[in-house]
Amino acid sequence: MCYAIPGKLVEIKKNIGIVDYFGEKKNVLLDYGNAKVGDYIYAQGGILVNTISKREALEILETWKELFFELKKTDEKLAEIEASPSSKNLLAVLQEVNLNKTLTKDELLYLFALKGKNNLRLLYETANNIRQKTHGNACCVHGILEFSNVCENNCFYCGIRKERKLKRYRMGVSEIIDAAKYACGELGFKALVLQSGEDNWYTEDKLTTIVSAIRKLGVLVFLSIGQRNKTTYKRLYEAGSRAALLRFETSNKEIFETLRPGTTLASRLELIRYLKELGFILATGFISGLPGETSEDVINNILLTKSLKPDMHSFGPFIPAQDTPLKDHATIRPDEMLKTIAISRLIDKDSNILVTTALETLEKEAKRKALLAGANSLMINVTPKAYKNLYRIYDGRVDKDINKNIKETIAILRSLGRAPADLGL
Ligand code: SF4
Repeated sequence: MCYAIPGKLVEIKKNIGIVDYFGEKKNVLLDYGNAKVGDYIYAQGGILVNTISKREALEILETWKELFFELKKTDEKLAEIEASPSSKNLLAVLQEVNLNKTLTKDELLYLFALKGKNNLRLLYETANNIRQKTHGNACCVHGILEFSNVCENNCFYCGIRKERKLKRYRMGVSEIIDAAKYACGELGFKALVLQSGEDNWYTEDKLTTIVSAIRKLGVLVFLSIGQRNKTTYKRLYEAGSRAALLRFETSNKEIFETLRPGTTLASRLELIRYLKELGFILATGFISGLPGETSEDVINNILLTKSLKPDMHSFGPFIPAQDTPLKDHATIRPDEMLKTIAISRLIDKDSNILVTTALETLEKEAKRKALLAGANSLMINVTPKAYKNLYRIYDGRVDKDINKNIKETIAILRSLGRAPADLGL
């Protein structure tokens, strides 16, 4: 199985390539290598990551040919709007979305407070319809490798915070590279997220070695290593990483500074903006449902995410972890997560929206529901078995065997008509 369909490079305009996927054209940044018109390529997140021989590409495309068009039909069918809401006000707000008008904060608050099966169904269906019209049935699937659960910080909401008594692990440099080789070579991932706590044991030199080696596998190297120095990120960009995930956690300065002692929202936002300036594919967002947040905070979070011009929105649901200061607080409700995803899709049509692995802990059907509420990107945990259970950022983490998880995810994508073609720029 592969998590990306190769495309044919049919035109080059400066550093932008036009790639054909069964007649559909997508733009990609020709950031790596010397691809020429006529080459078959893999792209991830709108960036060319590798070329592939014509023979191999044609073999893969042959297996996808019929399925690709079948999937498209299924997706188009599922993206039709069928719900009939009881609220005229809701219809009026959604009509403004269709007319590309900017929704006011009051309208966004109204959507977040929405209740009733039919009303919610219409909200999710509208978001899914926009996703389908804007992005087609493309859905990217990234692997995520959690390489260290050591962190020097003490965020109140986090299960791997420094003060928590927990069995800690750090994968060695060559161990990380070997795990990446397995995920990309054996399991077929074309994009790999490298995730850890803020662990300065991994010096710039160590991280650079890891990034360069994984980049050589011909995949997108995606960093999720927290608030490291600007110089570290710059060096890792130069070493070949091209995507970075850094959430701002909450737009409420007071809550941020209470829950993340010793850090400031301003410095976090400055770094996020810097990552975008450096040229990283930026994934950002917040933790949904942090204690103390009001509905207005949630809407501010959604708006702040959009203002950071992310390529990908990423929301982690708040799920309390034992032995942390927030252990007794309530977990976010699944419908609040789905509303957050749908509202984000309504106000940011072009961006991608990720279904985080944590969502599945909230609800078994979360992946499917989120993909039908506007999301179009997934991650699958590829951390080696020996460590996976130790990355306990929240309680009740779903621990699935990698191969079983891959199989289930592919079955969901097929049933929803989604194909692993690149989403383009
Ligand atoms: S949220 Fe991130 S920075 Fe904070 S304690 Fe957890 S891993 Fe560390």
